[in-house]
Amino acid sequence: MDNRQSTQPRHPKQRLVTAGIALMACLVPVGQIFSEGWSNPLIGTHLVQGLAWALVLIGMAIAAEKYHQLRGHDLLVLQVLWCNLGAITFAGVTPEALRPLLLIVPLVGVMYAALYVARRQLILLMVLTLLLHGIAVLNGLSFPEFDLSISIFSSLVYLLFMAAFFAISTTLQGLRDGLIESNQKLHAEVEDFREMALKDELTGLDNRRSVMEFLARQIALVDRGQVSFALCYVDIDHFKAINDQFGHFVGDDVLQRFSKLAKSAARSADIVARFGGEEFVIVLVGGTAETAKQFAIRLIAQARNLAIASESQNVGFTVSIGVAQYLPGEGIDSVIARADDALYGAKRAGRDGVQVSSSMPLRAIR
Ligand code: GH3
Ligand code: MG
Ligand code: MG
Repeated sequence: MDNRQSTQPRHPKQRLVTAGIALMACLVPVGQIFSEGWSNPLIGTHLVQGLAWALVLIGMAIAAEKYHQLRGHDLLVLQVLWCNLGAITFAGVTPEALRPLLLIVPLVGVMYAALYVARRQLILLMVLTLLLHGIAVLNGLSFPEFDLSISIFSSLVYLLFMAAFFAISTTLQGLRDGLIESNQKLHAEVEDFREMALKDELTGLDNRRSVMEFLARQIALVDRGQVSFALCYVDIDHFKAINDQFGHFVGDDVLQRFSKLAKSAARSADIVARFGGEEFVIVLVGGTAETAKQFAIRLIAQARNLAIASESQNVGFTVSIGVAQYLPGEGIDSVIARADDALYGAKRAGRDGVQVSSSMPLRAIR
């Protein structure tokens, strides 16, 4: 990603600046008319020139807006150059009293560019602006009222301002780079915190908060009649005994291996979450009671066959699963409670099996 993207001038502001410069370009012929009177034969030419310059600038502003996805500052450099060229050109045909005013315009352009463009572009812009200024000075030599000492003085002032703008631009660039860097760090940290807030540390699965958010989104879809989903409430059988017999670390290993197994059994659109302790919730998107039951049977068989070796012997374990298909309108707590009820049915029936909730939602369907 181009880091300069985020420091791009805002387009409304850029538009305003360009419009201001265009207005200044238009004011030049108006000033000429006031100072030379309406009888000047060049009035028409001045007006057309001023308007043409302003129109090109406005065209560039529109282009900048339309093609802002190009995200380069080249157009801004062009705008400033065009505006500077306009000011210098008009200075040649402007009465002496207005000339110093007009020669300020290129400086304004360079100052504005110094805030945004890259250093190489700024140097290019400065060199070209100085060149234009030099041409204007050389051009002035042919005027009878030309004062060389004033021209040298104004050129020195030009150079001084350019150096100041360059220094400002360097400082700004440093500030901007620092800001971009700390912004990126902040983004990465926010991502880390988000991950920590939604993931279970031991198993890497989504946690309870994450599955609750997921369920809320699924429920919104089902309640609008778009899809169905089924929930599997999984509990590892006699897990306390595994801990007691083989130790807590082996218990953790069982949790991690089963998590991997469940994750690989589910599809990527589904969510497998550790709900707490040795209990897991799997939401099968688009699932029904029947498809979820088949899924649960497969998962139970795979868990049964999962070989986990401890130091002394192989650790076998089984799981029980309660299944509930979400009934439109019943709400999050109801579907979880029905799956939990079905799970206890499976436990009562001897564990290592699945039961499907056939009960009605626990609160009235809206
Ligand atoms: P049932 O078949 O009826 O589900 O019996 P159970 O032993 O699996 O259920 P019980 O609720 O009696 O025990 C669950 C145990 O899970 C108790 C607790 O110490 C253990 N446990 C909870 N979280 C963790 C964990 O992160 N790691 C380990 N190793 N054990 C945990
Ligand atoms: Mg339990
Ligand atoms: Mg258990």
